[in-house]
Amino acid sequence: MKRVLLLLPTASYRNEDFLAAAKKLNVDIISAADYCHQLAPLWGMSPIQAVPFDQPEVALKQVLAALGREPDAVLAVDDAGLELAALLRERLHLPGNPPAAVRLTRDKLAFRRLLQSGGLNCPDFYHLGNDAQTATLLPPLQFPVVVKARRLSASRGVIRADTPRAYIQAVQWVRGIQIKADRDAAKLGLVVESFIPGREYALEGLLQDGRLQVLALFDKPDPLDGPYFEETLYITPSRLPQAKQDEIAQTVQRACELAGLTSGPVHAEMRVNEQGVWLLEIAARSIGGLCGRVLRHALGMSLEELILRHALNQPLPQVQYGEAGGVMMIPIPGHGIFQGARNLEAALQVAGISDIQITATPGQIIAPPPEGAGYLGFIFAHGISPDTVESSLRQAHQRLVFEIRADIPVNQANCPT
Ligand code: ADP
Repeated sequence: MKRVLLLLPTASYRNEDFLAAAKKLNVDIISAADYCHQLAPLWGMSPIQAVPFDQPEVALKQVLAALGREPDAVLAVDDAGLELAALLRERLHLPGNPPAAVRLTRDKLAFRRLLQSGGLNCPDFYHLGNDAQTATLLPPLQFPVVVKARRLSASRGVIRADTPRAYIQAVQWVRGIQIKADRDAAKLGLVVESFIPGREYALEGLLQDGRLQVLALFDKPDPLDGPYFEETLYITPSRLPQAKQDEIAQTVQRACELAGLTSGPVHAEMRVNEQGVWLLEIAARSIGGLCGRVLRHALGMSLEELILRHALNQPLPQVQYGEAGGVMMIPIPGHGIFQGARNLEAALQVAGISDIQITATPGQIIAPPPEGAGYLGFIFAHGISPDTVESSLRQAHQRLVFEIRADIPVNQANCPT
């Protein structure tokens, strides 16, 4: 029986899908998690359940010490464990992306530098250090600009600023968010870059020996113009002309080569305008949240199964590009305490809706970006065309009613008024 070491972040949406895929493939799973190192022993958990994914060098030693028989593959379920998984594979002589490539693509500043040196489209950008005075100096860029935390995801800590005043507030706010979310915040600083106009797309792919296979290209039909950038709809196949889709795939392929990514899932986000394709990020992982479920039909299996099969060198499916599919990451309307969702039945009855998963739990404190990085849940649809899928998702969303108590004492210290 093959053995796979899975790095399962406690906060991931995808643990169950990976575990189900492993069961189906009859794979033995060793799981490592990032529970609190002080609480885990009290809960009777073993040391491998309390590994600091965000300190990969420390975590590497801890996992190696706890590992019995060596695994046949090491996979990170989400962003958090990517660097650690790469280090473990290197140490265990398993194939996969080099740690340096993974590290580079996790850092928005390093990625911008890479695009610039490789001659790919790249907005003007600069690195804003952490010292106090820099927060009040204006950026050497034309407005509008986007202020970003270095290593967060799901649009957490990303704010557009159109004026000097908005910029100064954004810097303060993003610094506060990064301090709460990244233990290395003090040495990271922020990225400030020009705003790239245009529509947005996302590519889901698989790298094999450095060659990119596109599994899906998604349109993001809602304009993402800020000041905050909450994701909503992903629709595939894309309605872009084929030549543009090819240009996107070539750009992602080139960026993977520049970064040194060669193997496994890749998720890329980009904006497209008259000047071409502008990459926002490439990540050595698959699409986040439960969104990958929308590809089940086209893949004939779950995306997690495909990733496991790839890691274990087992036969991969032929992708069937038949019907259209789409997913809505249900946006969080505002800070508050989630109480529950109503009208699920009515929303499920909208033609084309295949599933609705409410992932927020009653009592959970929720916040939209730039503070938060989650969703209320996911709506899935399939249909004969991208347009019908998009309309089904919008209708279903309109039917849902969310109860959120807005009266929590939110810490506004970092929020501009
Ligand atoms: P994350 O990894 O948190 O998703 P990104 O850098 O991809 O961070 O930014 C999140 C979103 O913010 C993007 O999907 C996009 O909508 C918007 N965004 C980020 N940078 C820019 C930019 N330079 N110009 C326009 N929009 C941007």
